[in-house]
Amino acid sequence: MGEELGARAYCSNCHGMVEFETRTEKKRIVHDGVPIEYEARAAYCVNCGDELAYEPYEEEGAQAFAEALRIHNGIVPLSIIKALPKKYHIGKRPLSLLLGWGEVTYSRYIEGHIPSIGYSNIIQRLFDNPVEYEQLLEKNRGLISDRAYQNSKKAVKAVIESDQPETEKMLEVASEFCVLSGGNIGAREIEKLTYYAQAFSLVVLDEPLFELEPEAWVAGPVYRRLWEIFKLDNVSGVYGDGRLSLEDSSCFDEKEEDLIKAVWHAFGIYGGTVLSEMTHREDPWLLARKRAGVGVDERCSEPIRLGDMRSFFEKRLDGKRGIRDMAKKYAEESAGEALLSIMGMQPS
Ligand SMILES: [Zn+2]
Repeated sequence: MGEELGARAYCSNCHGMVEFETRTEKKRIVHDGVPIEYEARAAYCVNCGDELAYEPYEEEGAQAFAEALRIHNGIVPLSIIKALPKKYHIGKRPLSLLLGWGEVTYSRYIEGHIPSIGYSNIIQRLFDNPVEYEQLLEKNRGLISDRAYQNSKKAVKAVIESDQPETEKMLEVASEFCVLSGGNIGAREIEKLTYYAQAFSLVVLDEPLFELEPEAWVAGPVYRRLWEIFKLDNVSGVYGDGRLSLEDSSCFDEKEEDLIKAVWHAFGIYGGTVLSEMTHREDPWLLARKRAGVGVDERCSEPIRLGDMRSFFEKRLDGKRGIRDMAKKYAEESAGEALLSIMGMQPS
């Protein structure tokens, strides 16, 4: 893979410049007592098989290690820092100004300076949430040139529009729950059921049902657009602006349908209060709230990461069972704990 044609490197064993073979391999460096793993290319002498120091690969490896170390420390990867201005078509300097940072701050991060955790979280959030970026752009447009504003506005609009199909898919999952409940479902229930369907899909089908992150609201994970459409608490027969319908016109395949049904059968019997409490006891929501640094009753729109959902539920679900049993077992255990906690029988 990616052999450099005609490239040679020095082999101390063979005492000379030699041809080498390239292998991509997992490396591990213990840093402050913690093993940091990363992937990099390595060169091996074709004559004696010794690993050689080939400068481009050494450089590549050093960068991959630095990136892995940042991720380990909870710092936004350099790749995201570089991608953010491109994603929203904004210069580094105007971006710094929009953020209220020093004029050259963002350029420094691109050069490899490490941002604080606070700044790092802001960068990650803006990258993940085009709507949040758009709000920032609108609010602080006076701080940048009109041309910079117009260019960026056009770009962020395009990004938001390209997210649209994913929003449609999310609403489709929610509408499946409307159908399954016969229209008898509340806003909190539908949010949590959609969340669990997504979480189970990540583990069982190894991919998300839709590419959207929920936000870590006080009452648990919430898909904002779904909440906006589905504001009323009791909506038998009322489906917001009509986009959630009882008509079953699913865009999902059979496996996805089975999964959605399994989630309904396992979780659909619990009300919003129990479902909320269940999510409060799970890492993905807790981690997002922690990142945002908010108290129990504080508002928060921090996204819950799909990676956190996947790793938490992977640990909790027994992959050997069928999806129905798996969902049921998880729901029963989790609801039991949630009920005890609601009744104040154990510290939550
Ligand atoms: Zn050699």
